[in-house]
Amino acid sequence: QEPFPAPGRIRVISVANQKGGVGKTTSTVNLGVALSLYGLRTLVIDLDPQGNASTALGVPHNVGTPSIYDALVGDSSLSEVVHPTTASPLLSCVPATIDLAGAEIELVSVVAREYRLRRSIEAYLHSLPADQQPHYVLIDCPPSLGLLTLNALVAGDEVLIPIQCEYYALEGLGQLLNNIDLVRQHLNPGIAVRTILLTMYDGRTKLADQVAEEVRNHFGDLVLDAVIPRNVRVSEAPGYGQSVITYDPGSRGSTSYVEAAREVAQRGVHLTPVAPPAPPAR
Ligand code: ADP
Ligand code: MG
Repeated sequence: QEPFPAPGRIRVISVANQKGGVGKTTSTVNLGVALSLYGLRTLVIDLDPQGNASTALGVPHNVGTPSIYDALVGDSSLSEVVHPTTASPLLSCVPATIDLAGAEIELVSVVAREYRLRRSIEAYLHSLPADQQPHYVLIDCPPSLGLLTLNALVAGDEVLIPIQCEYYALEGLGQLLNNIDLVRQHLNPGIAVRTILLTMYDGRTKLADQVAEEVRNHFGDLVLDAVIPRNVRVSEAPGYGQSVITYDPGSRGSTSYVEAAREVAQRGVHLTPVAPPAPPAR
């Protein structure tokens, strides 16, 4: 297996869509596993109180487990809450516990509440030796546009939007894109949608083709060539604390996520390092 090429800079990617059930968690987990199995160090941050990404990666997330909540609301560093995964030695995960459900409210009164995750990730990256730096940080967002998703949009350099090939696929997307624009204007000038991934594609229906075509017309090159089919193995895997790639490597769900990850990796090669922010003018 040829390893995937490393990106030109560390890529912090928020996987976002305020609609539930479109494949955010599944895509975060499977892209993360694929990138790591092909040689790229990857950190998955579970930012959904449901903790589904943690489950799928076999990482404990019962109440009391050190988790992203302790970094966002408390003063833990990410290094204190990051867990290894069994999927790959190159893949680690910061789990989410149900405590995170309260964070949307608890953060309201916190200073610089939109920057909590960003600061946390920055400090973590600074604390790691060069040969331990992740190539990818993937953030699994909850199905809302609240303060948690805002933290992800402020923390990341880019957004990956999974779109389900179903009725109303594009409904509500305008709201997400608007929010991303607002974040770019006011909080994080670097943020942009860089990737669209079509998920749960059912080749037997005309509708799936129509949705896919509409999305490609609208988003052009942002849409990955790889499309994730609806595949029962994908939905079975989390029940075994696994990604579909480790659960059933030969399945179409697995091979399509590996292809999607390969494209993501190839597109990252040409990125240039971000210049550190200029010192404040005197
Ligand atoms: P989100 O995180 O956006 O809410 P999930 O990734 O949890 O969405 O997916 C919603 C449900 O659909 C889950 O039960 C998941 O297992 C299932 N699912 C996701 N992708 C696929 C797929 N390609 N084929 C079959 N089931 C899928
Ligand atoms: Mg989810």
